[in-house]
Amino acid sequence: MILDVKNLTKTFEKNNKTFTAVDNISFQINKGECLGIVGESGSGKSTIAKMLVRLLNPDSGEINFLGKDLATANKSELQATRKDIQMIFQNPLDSFNPRKKLKTSVGAGLKYIMGLNKKEIDKKVNEALNLVGLKPEYADRYINKISGGECQRAAIARAILVEPKLLICDEITSALDVSVQAQIIDLLVDLRNKMNMSYIFITHDLTLVRYLCDRVLVMYKGNEVESGTAKDIFENPMHPYTKLLLSCIMTVDNIDENKSISYEKLQHSGGCKFKEMCPNRMEICNSIKPEIKQINNRNIRCHLYND
Ligand code: ADP
Ligand code: MG
Repeated sequence: MILDVKNLTKTFEKNNKTFTAVDNISFQINKGECLGIVGESGSGKSTIAKMLVRLLNPDSGEINFLGKDLATANKSELQATRKDIQMIFQNPLDSFNPRKKLKTSVGAGLKYIMGLNKKEIDKKVNEALNLVGLKPEYADRYINKISGGECQRAAIARAILVEPKLLICDEITSALDVSVQAQIIDLLVDLRNKMNMSYIFITHDLTLVRYLCDRVLVMYKGNEVESGTAKDIFENPMHPYTKLLLSCIMTVDNIDENKSISYEKLQHSGGCKFKEMCPNRMEICNSIKPEIKQINNRNIRCHLYND
């Protein structure tokens, strides 16, 4: 196992109220494994990712990565693991300096994290560009002279250059056209086979998860509602929310992220967080929040499965 996350929790202040964006989330990832984290916008997916790389500090919980708890690690300990966990975001443009050539940006990790010299960096950058399907002449281009898909390829090249053990992809294809999206996914599958990295693939697109991931964690309003192998979850979803996600009755895209008022009400109204939208709602769901149970080789948080 390379990552063992336990009871990770993060609260934020919103309109002077505290709400829990990530609520007691636990999961594990083995070497070479891909975990999909799915759930509608606002369910806490990015907050988890940001805590894993400590862009955000967790309120509580453990992030055991290769024997070290990153949740409590100090600056120099974090620095030491920086090359082992890389993250790619939805908008790669934001993380490239428009005044720098691609080779400088892509090779930055090699310089600052690995301490390589210019010649070594140029060579490795060229190899990485080739690996992600960008022509060698792209090394001298500026980011505003390439397309969104190419920019995301460059971001992937930059991330894999330091040979991370874990690559976190947060909605990395969401801003791309469908055909470009497919190319990026094929690239990830290809890299996965070549590099034996572990992945966390965050998305609201379930078809991608089905294609890429070994295991799936389904989130709803900061909670784990169901998790298990991708095969089990897709072939036999048990939680009403997972079923809805899969049945297209409710496509995740058309849920409004900014329903902040009703969202907060939901957060404080007790019982199951999914009850307002649940087709299987029962009396008990109004007052008691279901605990996570282990049934049929998976975790599930739903009163339907009380014995
Ligand atoms: P997702 O990635 O699943 O769309 P996020 O993790 O980005 O969800 O956000 C979860 C919730 O936390 C949302 O309600 C969001 O508005 C809120 N949130 C995220 N980051 C912050 C922050 N820095 N300050 C306050 N609220 C935040
Ligand atoms: Mg997000």
